[in-house]
Amino acid sequence: MRVPFVDLALLHAGLGAELQEAWQRVASSGSYVLGPELEAFEEEFASYCGARWCVGVANGLDALTLTLRAMDIGAGDEVIVPTNTFIASWLAVSRVGAVPVPAEPDEYTYNIDPTRIEQSITSRTTAVLAVDLYGQLADIDRIRRVAERHRLKIIEDAAQAHGARRNGVRAGGWADAAGFSFFPTKNLGCLGDGGAVVTNDHSLADRIRCLRNYGSRQKYYNEIAGFNSRLDPLQAAFLRVKLSHLDDWNAHRRETVHAYEAGLSGLPNLSLPQHSSDEEEHVWHLYVVHHPRRDELQRQLSVAGIETAIHYPVPPHLSQAYMGLGLSGRLPIAERLAAQALSLPIGPHIGAVETGQIIRVMREFCLRCQ
Ligand SMILES: *Cc1c(COP(=O)(O)O)cnc(C)c1O
Repeated sequence: MRVPFVDLALLHAGLGAELQEAWQRVASSGSYVLGPELEAFEEEFASYCGARWCVGVANGLDALTLTLRAMDIGAGDEVIVPTNTFIASWLAVSRVGAVPVPAEPDEYTYNIDPTRIEQSITSRTTAVLAVDLYGQLADIDRIRRVAERHRLKIIEDAAQAHGARRNGVRAGGWADAAGFSFFPTKNLGCLGDGGAVVTNDHSLADRIRCLRNYGSRQKYYNEIAGFNSRLDPLQAAFLRVKLSHLDDWNAHRRETVHAYEAGLSGLPNLSLPQHSSDEEEHVWHLYVVHHPRRDELQRQLSVAGIETAIHYPVPPHLSQAYMGLGLSGRLPIAERLAAQALSLPIGPHIGAVETGQIIRVMREFCLRCQ
C-alpha cells in the first residue's frame, strides 16, 4: 500500500458536484475580479473566525505584507519573528523594508517563546509577528501582555491554523490582524493560490482593501502606490464550499492524532508534538515528530511506501536569502528542530489502515535504533 503525504485530487473528487456548481455560478455571473462572490466569502470567513472583517488577497505572503504596509511598518522598524517557521513570515517583513528579528521557540510547543520576544525588543521594535505553527495557537495571553507593555502591534500568521480555537476565540480573532493562506495544502485551501487578512479594526481593513486594488477605492483614482493582490471570485466560490467542511476535516485530523499518540507514545528517542489538553486549540495542519536519526527513519518509511515531508529542512536564517544576517549557528533550537523534524501524513485521506501501517514501521525502527 502507498500512503501519499497529501491527496488533494481525492479530496476534490469527493466534492465534485459542489465544486462544479460553484464554478458554474461564477462562470455565468460575468464578474471575475472582486464582486459579490468574493464579498460573500469574506463575510462567511470573518464570521467563522469570530472577527469583524476579512479582506481576500492573492496569497498568504501578501496577506502579511499588506497588513504590515497598512500598519505603516517599514524602513527603520524591527519586527520580531519566530526562528522556526515557513520563510514567508520573514519575507513579509523584508518586503516592507523592515528588519526581521528572530526569537527562538518553546522547545516543546515549537511556538515563539514570549520571554524571548521580550529579550529581543529594542527601541526600533514596532511589532511581533506570531505564527500559530503547525496549527496550534501561539501563546496568546503572554504575547499580548508583552505587546501591551512595549506598545507593539501583533500580527498573527494564521496560515496553518484555520479553525483553531481557545476560550471561544478562533485563529484570526486574537491579534491586531491575522494573515491566512489558502495555498492548496492548507487545512482550508483553494484550487490555486489565495489568502486573506482577518481583523476587528475597521480602518485597517479599509486600508488593506484599498492597497490590494492598486491603492484605489474609485477606479482610476489612486490614493497610494498599491498592489494588485485580490482573491479570485472563482477561488472564493471554491473556498465557500470547502469552508462548510472545515470543522469535519479538522475533527478527522484530531482522530488521526489520537491514533498516532496511542501507537507512538513512549518510543525511545522519538518526540511527539505536545499540545494543550483543550483539543480545539490545535487543528493539526502538520503532525511533526522529532528523531535524532530522522533521515534514516524517513528512508525506512519511504521503503514501506509511506510518503513524509520535512517542515522545514532549512530555517529562514540559514537560507541563502538571509545569509547576510550572519546568524548561522546562533539559533540552536531552530537548527536542532530542523535537523530532526519529520512530518507524518495527516488529512482527510488518512484513516485507520494508513495510521496502522505508519505506526508499525515507526515502532519497528525506533525499537531497533535505541
Ligand atoms: C503557507 C504559509 C504562508 C504563506 O502562504 P502562501 O499562500 O503560500 O503565500 C505564510 N506563513 C506560513 C506559516 C505558512 O505556512
